[in-house]
Amino acid sequence: MSQSTPAIVILGQGSLATARRIQQVYPAAQIHGLAGRVDGADCSYQEFGATLRTLYQQDTPIIALCAAGIVIRTLAPLLLEKGAEPAVLAVAEDGSAVVPLLGGLGGVNVMARDIAAALQVAPAITTSGELRFGTCLLNPPSGYALADLESGKRFVSDLLAGHSVRIEGAAPWLDQAQLPQDPQAQRSIHVGSAEREASANELLIYPRSVAVAVSAEVANLPNAVRTALQQANVAVPALACLVAADTDMASANVHQAALELGVPLRFVAAQSDLQALARVAVPEANVIGIENVAVAIAEQPLDVSRIGRPRGRLAVIGLGPGAAELMVPAVKAELARATDVLGYETYVRMAGPFRDDQVQHCTDNREEMQRARHAFRLAAEGRSVIVVSSGDPGVFAMAAAVLEALHESDDPAWHRVDLEILPGVSASLATAAQAGAPLGHDFCVMSLSDNLKPWSIIEKRLDLAAEADLALAFYNPISRARPWQLGRALEIVAQHRRPETPVVLGRDIGRPGQTLRTTTLGALTPEQVDMRTMVLIGSSTTCTFARAGGGEWVYTPRWYGEKPVS
Ligand code: SAH
Repeated sequence: MSQSTPAIVILGQGSLATARRIQQVYPAAQIHGLAGRVDGADCSYQEFGATLRTLYQQDTPIIALCAAGIVIRTLAPLLLEKGAEPAVLAVAEDGSAVVPLLGGLGGVNVMARDIAAALQVAPAITTSGELRFGTCLLNPPSGYALADLESGKRFVSDLLAGHSVRIEGAAPWLDQAQLPQDPQAQRSIHVGSAEREASANELLIYPRSVAVAVSAEVANLPNAVRTALQQANVAVPALACLVAADTDMASANVHQAALELGVPLRFVAAQSDLQALARVAVPEANVIGIENVAVAIAEQPLDVSRIGRPRGRLAVIGLGPGAAELMVPAVKAELARATDVLGYETYVRMAGPFRDDQVQHCTDNREEMQRARHAFRLAAEGRSVIVVSSGDPGVFAMAAAVLEALHESDDPAWHRVDLEILPGVSASLATAAQAGAPLGHDFCVMSLSDNLKPWSIIEKRLDLAAEADLALAFYNPISRARPWQLGRALEIVAQHRRPETPVVLGRDIGRPGQTLRTTTLGALTPEQVDMRTMVLIGSSTTCTFARAGGGEWVYTPRWYGEKPVS
């Protein structure tokens, strides 16, 4: 069953009201509106087909407010591929019809019923098993796993053909279903965690009611777990999660095992042994030590989110210059999974919108070390934390501050956090791309801010970089507190470069009101530059030519010295 948050996709303003009503069923879902057509959506897209296909391939359930035919034609090329099959529904713009199209096993009919209930219409359910029994036997709720899909399909068609059924074991969700139940029936639905060979007339459903406590020291963990389950007479699909001591939190062995077994991994405080650990993690379970792991068997499916806690995560992300299209997909995915978002207010706002359950911690731009330490404290509690930078987090931004905070810390819990730095398009690159290719050959990136480094070193680097004939990209070129530094920097560069040297000024690139200017070193004055500007200064080979439609292209050739014959 698909657990992920659906995307609501609309093509016109007329659908927004219906989309908002559907959003009440899925508060975490974002409304994607066609750029230029929809005002006030949560995010916008340029191209309907590409957007829908990307969502589908990312296994995101899709609720499209448009004709079913459009959705079918758009997704048709992907349908023959094996792989993701998320729920896909078409909903009439005015909310009068809800049509589940794809993803029967992704719970599409459940979604159709929920959405239709919110819109007060009848869902267009066409699946015979569902219609007859009011539930999809092949798609048990989370907490249960179907043993085998193919024999399940056969089982359902038998019931549709008129056979009756009896239920063995606890299956509370089936109580509401209209199954042809008969205590004497030949066919049975068997719900239980014990390993068992399904007989011809049996549908096997395993409750995920078992946890296994493991330790990083055990070699070949997945096998050890499988062997222990077998000895405990527990079927592998009944495994709900692995648990380990928090001291094993960073162990690749443990994470790899959970990944291979396809179950979540939870952590509790280290105990005297693994059986004690399993008892702390799942107090209601019956715990048995088998070889080098401990198996905890409960009566009911386990609510994994209540067992210990997950490994905390800290991602330092780069938003890119500002435009959503220039944000890398890994960053978008990270934003969706975050529980806490930290950063300078402007950037946190730029990274949004966020759901109600995501906590925003906005701080002043200068409190970098405090922010980094705050992020580790939250992540060490098991939360999924994001520290936001604009552009790339490793370019005059938060990644180095976060690593500095970790380097200084001797708290083992901080060092066990799952730390990842996700790159972004830096302002110099975004600006260069709009101008052409001014950084097309060797170049040097500098921050002109002398907040954290002496001005003398900036002068020295400028002098040497200019002498080396590198193209130059200046970040933090000027600010109210640093009014004269840019003028001095330009003087140094002018000692090595001709006044005609092309200069590109990009201001608020990728953001509303962006401006891009091309000028020359001789004509450049500090008044043309502010702290939201990127300054690119060409090398001796950087050149310009007219661009059709106005303005000019700026580029630095790939070669140096003699132009090669091509
Ligand atoms: N990590 C950021 C840089 C932070 S330093 C990045 O990789 O882009 C801040 C400086 O970056 C600003 O003073 C400005 O010079 C430049 N800058 C950041 N975003 C910009 C944008 N959208 N347009 C132009 N310059 C930008």
